[in-house]
Amino acid sequence: MIYHAYETVPFYQGLINNIVFDIKKLPIIEKKQMIESGRSLLSSKYMGKYLSNQLKWTRTSGSSGLLYEIYWDKVDDKKSMLELWLLRWKYYKVSPKQKMCYFFPADIGNDDYVESDTKLAISRKCLYDGNLSEIYKKIKQYKPEWMILQPGISLVLCELAKKYGIWKEIRYIEFTGEFLREEVRKCVEDTFCCITANQYGTKEVNSIAYECPEGNMHVMTRNVYLENKGQNLYVTSLSNYAMPFIRYKLDDRGCIRRGVKCKCGRCGDVIDLYEGRENDVIKLPKGEKVHSYTLMQSIHRLNYKYEGCILQYRIVQEAYDKFTYYIVLNKEDCTEDLKREIVEEICYDLHNRIGNECICNIIYENNIYPESKTGKCKVFLSNVK
Ligand SMILES: [Zn+2]
Repeated sequence: MIYHAYETVPFYQGLINNIVFDIKKLPIIEKKQMIESGRSLLSSKYMGKYLSNQLKWTRTSGSSGLLYEIYWDKVDDKKSMLELWLLRWKYYKVSPKQKMCYFFPADIGNDDYVESDTKLAISRKCLYDGNLSEIYKKIKQYKPEWMILQPGISLVLCELAKKYGIWKEIRYIEFTGEFLREEVRKCVEDTFCCITANQYGTKEVNSIAYECPEGNMHVMTRNVYLENKGQNLYVTSLSNYAMPFIRYKLDDRGCIRRGVKCKCGRCGDVIDLYEGRENDVIKLPKGEKVHSYTLMQSIHRLNYKYEGCILQYRIVQEAYDKFTYYIVLNKEDCTEDLKREIVEEICYDLHNRIGNECICNIIYENNIYPESKTGKCKVFLSNVK
């Protein structure tokens, strides 16, 4: 993979003069470099497939605050998921044939949900705009045997389950996308009376680690090579040939334990993740809380409408009724008209979803820097105690 990347990807070719095969001597890649490099991240061997729209295309979810496009060859994409599917089956007897439910980002399509024989995919916009109880009833009626949920969303479903009850077919819930707090896990297990497991991955490389029944997050060593220095994590994809990632710095923090003999029978690297990307909640004056996704949705929608015009953002709740949006625009798209359009749409959403009395401040920035404490770009911050 190193040879392939440094031979065929313009971005990597520009970094060093001669290829070295000692991974430790290769440069660390930051997400910001990737975002600024656009198409030069693609391997020249895949340009044909890129130009004929044969590559799988996806955008990072935005929870890291940085948005850009990820490409996969469809065969590699499937291959990269193989180890995870094998372990799902080995540990929890979960297979692709069993009915499942998951939530997809609202920027993909306008449907509230997409249903097939084995999958019920629900748009995250339903969590805010749609009728939540209707969607919950839809899930209940579909009777999925398992679900993949972000911890934040799983808590929303727990609330609904208390009101409308659960279904007996549910037996496994997989968490992904956010740091999993044990309180959240306990609440979900108690509410849905099922087993749970944590899965850690990113759209760039797919699955990185998966939790066994003993509670260890085993590194997917067939799919990635994972390193850490201090609490920083660097991943090298062993599968993504179209858009290679070599020593790519992840947003999350953690520590790798090498050669762990686990009671589950697996021997190898285990990762302990640290809390660093928690999605905060918006606090309302009467003590009510709303998930910050409700405002992130505006950004996702604008990016869908204007083809990834917002590179990075941060939303700060300064007071109950005062919100500031820091926005980094894609320089190519930076017209005054677009800026006005963004202001209008964001303010409209804020007034609509939080309250008409809210003051909406929008500040265009060149950069948003990670917080010193966590080393991460938090997308939402609240100063309301
Ligand atoms: Zn294990």
